[in-house]
Amino acid sequence: MICPTCREVMIVVEQDKIELDHCTKCGGVWFDAGELELMLEGMGLDSGALTLAQIADLPDAETAEKKRRCPICGRKMKKAHIGREPEVLIDVCSWSDGLWFDGGEVHQIIEQCALSTGAKMDSEERVLSFLGDTFKAEG
Ligand SMILES: [Zn+2]
Ligand SMILES: [Zn+2]
Repeated sequence: MICPTCREVMIVVEQDKIELDHCTKCGGVWFDAGELELMLEGMGLDSGALTLAQIADLPDAETAEKKRRCPICGRKMKKAHIGREPEVLIDVCSWSDGLWFDGGEVHQIIEQCALSTGAKMDSEERVLSFLGDTFKAEG
């Protein structure tokens, strides 16, 4: 699969039965439909309003960020704000192929879910063990 941001070929990262596509150049991560929910549930976190259907239903966010094309269907993806303040701006395929997170954004969302779930102190540890070095926020 090709990275929607920098057009590099992405690598496949397997984590807890979920296969994510990751761009080592920009740090972005692609979640196929359902994978974000699976990942959050696997961490014992409440995926709440973060299902693909709900995100795809959000209004197109106003932003200067360039639209990107879905790596699966090639159509332009919608921008959506998810989470609570500070909201995270992600790209979502309106045809429900999946979600695109820029480098570091996955981490932000997991942290927010951990807070809202009232997860205990070890949640940060679980997050880090899941993300490993692969998805660490850069700079
Ligand atoms: Zn990239
Ligand atoms: Zn698509």
